[in-house]
Amino acid sequence: MEPLVFHTAYILILAGTFIIRLPHEKRNKANTIRIDNKSPQEKILLFLVFVGMMILPIVYLSTSWLSFADNSLPISTKIIGLLLVVPTLWLFYRSHKDLGLNWSASLEIREDHEIVDKGVYKIIRHPMYAAIWLWVIAQALLLNNYISGFAGLVSFGLLYFLRVPKEEEMMIKKFGETYREYQKRTKRIIPFIF
Ligand code: SAH
Repeated sequence: MEPLVFHTAYILILAGTFIIRLPHEKRNKANTIRIDNKSPQEKILLFLVFVGMMILPIVYLSTSWLSFADNSLPISTKIIGLLLVVPTLWLFYRSHKDLGLNWSASLEIREDHEIVDKGVYKIIRHPMYAAIWLWVIAQALLLNNYISGFAGLVSFGLLYFLRVPKEEEMMIKKFGETYREYQKRTKRIIPFIF
């Protein structure tokens, strides 16, 4: 199979996630933010994720600047990347739909914020981040390049591990025992395991 198929698959993830998020971004602008926990560290991490998951892949796909770091993964792993496109987009879509007006790109509590524990949130606490993990794994498998392929895993991995404890702390501060109970019933990103 031509690399074109794999590159197109990555463009599909980029375009798909953008389209899925767009209406939520527009609608949620109207929902006032009550608590803003966006620290300078959080802003830097969000910027790194933007570079790692969007800018570097686009540079790789449209120029030959990064070709010195090309790799040659076996076809079988690239096919796994291809198979991840649909679950990535599905979980990204479902988690946005279930989180609804409570969604924001950063650590924020909105007016009338409610705990969501239905839909995919019934099984794991961070389905949107689980979808992004699938996305960055697909990125590493679909782009044949050490830099643009792995930049997503590194930048999102950093954001994930630094943000999640803070996010859960923020939810406990706001919702107390209700969130603690929810934590007891669920795992973070892998159902029943992790
Ligand atoms: N971590 C979740 C949500 C990501 S969006 C996921 O991966 O699916 C980040 C915002 O979602 C946070 O600012 C927080 O306010 C909100 N949030 C996280 N978990 C929530 C939940 N169970 N119910 C309602 N809002 C939640």
